[in-house]
Amino acid sequence: MNENYRVHCECNAVEVTMTGAPRVHAYCHCQDCRELLQVPYHSVLAWEADQVHISQGAGEVIEYQHPRKRMTRVFCKHCGDVLYNTNAMGRKLVSQLLFKRCNQDQLPPGFESSAHFFYDRRVIDVDDALPKR
Ligand SMILES: [Zn+2]
Ligand SMILES: [Zn+2]
Repeated sequence: MNENYRVHCECNAVEVTMTGAPRVHAYCHCQDCRELLQVPYHSVLAWEADQVHISQGAGEVIEYQHPRKRMTRVFCKHCGDVLYNTNAMGRKLVSQLLFKRCNQDQLPPGFESSAHFFYDRRVIDVDDALPKR
């Protein structure tokens, strides 16, 4: 049976439900993530598109298509919180930080990052034991 997981934005206007485990859980150091989200690297929980749906406040989100990248940013039009972003593979990526904020500051077993992606493009070094690709 697939478990449901939920996140919501800061003002609670929007809730997103994810069904089943994420396909990818990792840190991404690529330039696309960096520029889309203005972060040094992205803490990714990536689900297939059909595993993620807006369960509350579908009319309260803005889906912003980046002008140059095949990526969108889906955020609450009231508080500006990004609920998830999409990547070129069509997956929906929820930040581990948002997930933790909405779930007692914890990630479920198996959700922790398993690797660093695009580590050669990093802008910040990370000293940990995870594989770096
Ligand atoms: Zn909000
Ligand atoms: Zn990335």
